[in-house]
Amino acid sequence: MGFLKKLFGGGEQTPQDRGIHLYIKCQRCGAPVHVRIDPQNELAAEYGDSEAEGYQVVKEITDDRCFRRMRAELHFDARRRETSRELEGGDFITVEEYETLRAERLAKPSANV
Ligand SMILES: [Zn+2]
Repeated sequence: MGFLKKLFGGGEQTPQDRGIHLYIKCQRCGAPVHVRIDPQNELAAEYGDSEAEGYQVVKEITDDRCFRRMRAELHFDARRRETSRELEGGDFITVEEYETLRAERLAKPSANV
């Protein structure tokens, strides 16, 4: 049974943040947005004939500047590993780009756009 136990990660393991972090830039106003997805609770199963063949999550996102609605869609395989992601209304950016955009935003308030 050691095999099964290993497979399902039996036993205590230190809890860690398994969240998926999306960093997004609004295509209209350029505002950076951070979204966290919880793979344990937010993934919806896509069923095949009998069992889940994969998972997906759809996320509606608005930035705090122009409030345009963006829509992210992520797909996962049966082991909850991400296989693809799409985004309408925005672009995926790296965490570094996100931090840079945020720092710029804080440095000069958007009073005079
Ligand atoms: Zn925007």
